[in-house]
Amino acid sequence: MLGPVILAASRSDRMRRLISAAPVTGPVVDRFIPGETVDDVLPIVQDLTDRGLEVTLDVVGEDITTPEQAAAARDAYLELVERLGDLELGTRAEMSVKLSLFGQALRGGHELALANVRPVVEAAAAIGTTVTLDAEDHTTLDSMFAIHEELRKDFPQTGCVIQAYLYRTEADARRLADSGSRVRLVKGAYKEPAEVAYQQRSETDKAYVRVLRILMEGEGYPMIGSHDPRLISIAQELARRASRKPDEYEFQMLYGIRSDEHLRLAAEGHRMRVYTAYGTDWYGYFMRRLAERPANLLFFGRSILTK
Ligand code: FAD
Repeated sequence: MLGPVILAASRSDRMRRLISAAPVTGPVVDRFIPGETVDDVLPIVQDLTDRGLEVTLDVVGEDITTPEQAAAARDAYLELVERLGDLELGTRAEMSVKLSLFGQALRGGHELALANVRPVVEAAAAIGTTVTLDAEDHTTLDSMFAIHEELRKDFPQTGCVIQAYLYRTEADARRLADSGSRVRLVKGAYKEPAEVAYQQRSETDKAYVRVLRILMEGEGYPMIGSHDPRLISIAQELARRASRKPDEYEFQMLYGIRSDEHLRLAAEGHRMRVYTAYGTDWYGYFMRRLAERPANLLFFGRSILTK
């Protein structure tokens, strides 16, 4: 019951102002968002990659209100690409992008988001890495997929995300499972109505397996974005049945969640990528992590009380 309430709060400006200004959020937020600047996050990238993991970096932020903010977000990613270039990690460090941060919801937002994301994808390609377009709420997805298709004409490695909880996703997976595509499958983190999405976790989990089978049997590169132990072992089995080698798919998990499992999978010879978010506008990202596991709210509450 708590999850949907927290997700509703994640879209509330009033809650955003209240919680973001609270001086108590420190350690709880740090668990999921380990830094505010490129300088904070690069040592983490180095450490994770030294330990045999791969990384995708997300400059947190969404729901911006002006084209200037969108341009600033693009510049933050361009700075990140430049600094990543110095580390020479190639695709071991890639980037994840939310198009809402690049202006997708503003007037003329589709074109604006495309214009802002293109130079980032170009710069990423120049240092030998890639960008994945995150999936946000269902109203944004047609535009995200159209931008993805457009970018893939010049940069075929550009990835995108599909969400198992949406009814449309099996059809999207079939369309996307072509040669060279990189598709991250996740359960889905937004509050979606019953007209478009499964409401029961068990239904989403079953859909996840159906969609994963399509991706594994297809010709693209599946990226399994989940911490769910059952789905991870099903993914291993599906990969085996599809005769995929360990470098023909990868696992992805979020920074701060099941970190031992990241290392265990990497030690078993799997590609394991850690989604690492950083920046100051952490509210929406943080609230979704709370909603996924309302027990996190207890730690959050405790940190407020003991401050
Ligand atoms: P769950 O059943 O939710 O979790 C399985 C287990 O993992 C839990 O029992 C718990 O032990 C642990 N766990 C999961 N979440 C948490 C948490 N927040 N705190 C502590 N423990 C936790 N969603 C989108 O809608 N769009 C995206 O673009 C997107 N990108 C993602 C990228 C990656 C790499 C990952 C891993 C997730 C992404 N998500 C995205 C979020 C995703 O949709 C789910 O909300 C999230 O992954 C939780 O689902 P799960 O598959 O881990 O399974």
